[in-house]
Amino acid sequence: MEKARKEYLFKVLVIGDLGVGKTSIIKRYVHQIFSQHYRATIGVDFALKVLHWDPDTVIRLQLWDIAGQERFGNMTRVYYREAVAAFIVFDVSRASTFEAVSKWKNDLDTKVRLQNGKMVPTVLLANKCDQVKEGLRYSLPKLEHFCKENGFVGWFETSAKDNVHIEEAARLLVETVLAVE
Ligand code: GDP
Ligand code: MG
Repeated sequence: MEKARKEYLFKVLVIGDLGVGKTSIIKRYVHQIFSQHYRATIGVDFALKVLHWDPDTVIRLQLWDIAGQERFGNMTRVYYREAVAAFIVFDVSRASTFEAVSKWKNDLDTKVRLQNGKMVPTVLLANKCDQVKEGLRYSLPKLEHFCKENGFVGWFETSAKDNVHIEEAARLLVETVLAVE
């Protein structure tokens, strides 16, 4: 008997403060590029990453980048609607962006839920780890604890610049979504 081919389309949000590297992470993951200058286009931007997950499964990740609205620190329900996963990003070299993480998580959890009522699986990205390695090392146990307390699936140090842990973070997110399906 022929096996059914499974195809999924997952809406994945990428949120976090302005300048933390959301667009850079998406461009790195989808187009394998890095640039110092991405213009903050106003509105919503999408990028599509196609994963040949296993011989029977194709997964399309629709990555939703926010552009220009970060300064409000929240998004509309319409924007979050039908998301099945999220990345929340902060910049390890700017403490204020980490303080904003719980605010983003809270915004997400109050405005969108999975069909089964559970929280949208979210992975925390500690981005720009190429910049302040020592500062972050010091806070690793803190981050681990923070993720447990705040309902994150997990976290990764990432660098869009040096291509560190972005694929791994996406894999964890997809595995979590598939486990819910
Ligand atoms: P966004 O506002 O969250 O979309 O942030 P951007 O992707 O526009 O990045 C803001 C700035 O940080 C840009 O100058 C990027 O080149 C830089 N940047 C993004 N990711 C990294 C990273 O991993 N390492 C370093 N050193 N710079 C980064
Ligand atoms: Mg951006």
